[in-house]
Amino acid sequence: MSAAGVSREPSSSRDVEVLIVGAGFGGIAAAIELRTHGITDVAILEKAPDLGGTWFYNSYPGAACDVPSHLYSFSYAQRRDWSRLCSPQEEIHAYLHDIARTHEVDRLVRTNTAVTACAWDQERCRWIVETAQGETYSAGALILATGQLHQPARPRVEGAETFAGHSFHSAEWDHACALAGKRVAVIGTGASAVQFIPEIAPVVERLTIFQRSGNWFMPRKNRSYPALLRAAIRSLPGVQELRRKFVFQYTESLTLAIRHPRTIGRAAGARSASFMRSQLKDPQLREKAWPDYTFGCKRILFSSHYLPALERANVELVTDAIARITPTGIVTEHGTEHELDCVIWATGFKTNDFMFPMRIVGADGLELEDYWSGGAHAHLGMCMPGFPSMFVMYGPNTNTSGGSILVYLEAQAAYIRQALQHVRARGTGAIEVLPEVEAASDRALQARFAGTAWLECDSWYRNENGRIVANWPGYMREYLEQTRQLDAREYHFVAAAKPATVMSA
Ligand code: NAP
Repeated sequence: MSAAGVSREPSSSRDVEVLIVGAGFGGIAAAIELRTHGITDVAILEKAPDLGGTWFYNSYPGAACDVPSHLYSFSYAQRRDWSRLCSPQEEIHAYLHDIARTHEVDRLVRTNTAVTACAWDQERCRWIVETAQGETYSAGALILATGQLHQPARPRVEGAETFAGHSFHSAEWDHACALAGKRVAVIGTGASAVQFIPEIAPVVERLTIFQRSGNWFMPRKNRSYPALLRAAIRSLPGVQELRRKFVFQYTESLTLAIRHPRTIGRAAGARSASFMRSQLKDPQLREKAWPDYTFGCKRILFSSHYLPALERANVELVTDAIARITPTGIVTEHGTEHELDCVIWATGFKTNDFMFPMRIVGADGLELEDYWSGGAHAHLGMCMPGFPSMFVMYGPNTNTSGGSILVYLEAQAAYIRQALQHVRARGTGAIEVLPEVEAASDRALQARFAGTAWLECDSWYRNENGRIVANWPGYMREYLEQTRQLDAREYHFVAAAKPATVMSA
């Protein structure tokens, strides 16, 4: 066993029924769902030394989920002892460890194993999976659960490599680097930055924040639950369930605001603006920090601590674009040089890359990179024609701007399990979505973005052509409805025996 308590050897052999790539919430959810339904020949390959995915990597100060824990948890593994509304990273990571252990899927995880390529072997009706460690796996089904937020993005800035001080990305926080008394820069002001800036601002000598876009904020103090509320949640039947239902509806109301930017969105934006005005007293600072796009177009940020941190004497908000980085600091377009000891990149993730640079080759040599050349798309975010018995979790168009990704992941795990049950029940080799089904569902999905706030600015939800590839355009309940029951008529089944023949559903 590793120090983190995760087995380094999968219990199954290198030929498995189902191979899962990624041991974050998606991969663990899939493994639990399959195991619970009698599909036990499963292995999970994880590149990190521990399970956890984003909750393993993102350990920056103040890291927490901005979705309340009563919803950011699986329906079958509810807790009554969350320490606060939105749990800190360690608590969420411990939760994932705990449910993986309880459902005995932690021992299926093979850590420090990075998948480099997956290719469909038509003759054998199996996926052949290669790892950077030189191993080869074969599997009847492949679940890619690498998510959208696992590859840190560091924008190219002239001279960045010449910087003589220390620098790191927020998702690779260098805990050995003492920031006390240092002149520190943060590049980026997204969801990660606004969580750690209030934590480090009181510690550093000077904090220079380079902002490209302002954000819309909503209040959230996220203090520890008072003892009385904790006791009520713990002891009174129904309180925890009620909170989950309430949070579900509240987050659906955020989607409502995003879907209707001229009406509900305007009212929600006014609420945000009033909160922001109350937090930012200095008119110049307020003008600098103010967003210039429609409320809800980018992620709405919940923090009562970030904007006040900007008013500290040792903090400067810079809105001049960065021109270059020198050995001693950052020079902006207006020629001001900011001398620095440390640069923290809070510039997000390569979200459009999904599982790439992994190479995925489907039937007849079809490269996923080519299939997605105009932008990623998949039926319900999971299935693509030409890639039999391959499923993506937290795939294209399944990100949520307000809801809980765990609600989506739980639904996806159940849907994939149904797909594999169909394969078993029919004695076929693989299941593959019909091309016309995937094309029609993609057209319908993209059409639903019309008139929404998501189309009113540039964001990481879109690719270079402006197509929204990250987000689901509707409500969580709609995704749950559409994934509840797999319709076998939307798929064809590939016979296991050689030569592969296609049978209609
Ligand atoms: P992000 O939201 O993508 O923010 C990246 C920041 O870097 C933005 O302010 C962006 O500005 C800026 N930036 C990017 N390229 C830049 C460049 N070349 N020059 C200057 N600034 C640049 O990344 P993140 O904060 O890591 O969050 C990513 C996602 O992770 C979130 O949207 C959310 O889904 C998730 N997350 C969730 C939580 C949670 O509590 N649930 C916490 C953290 C993260 P622009 O806005 O102008 O692009």
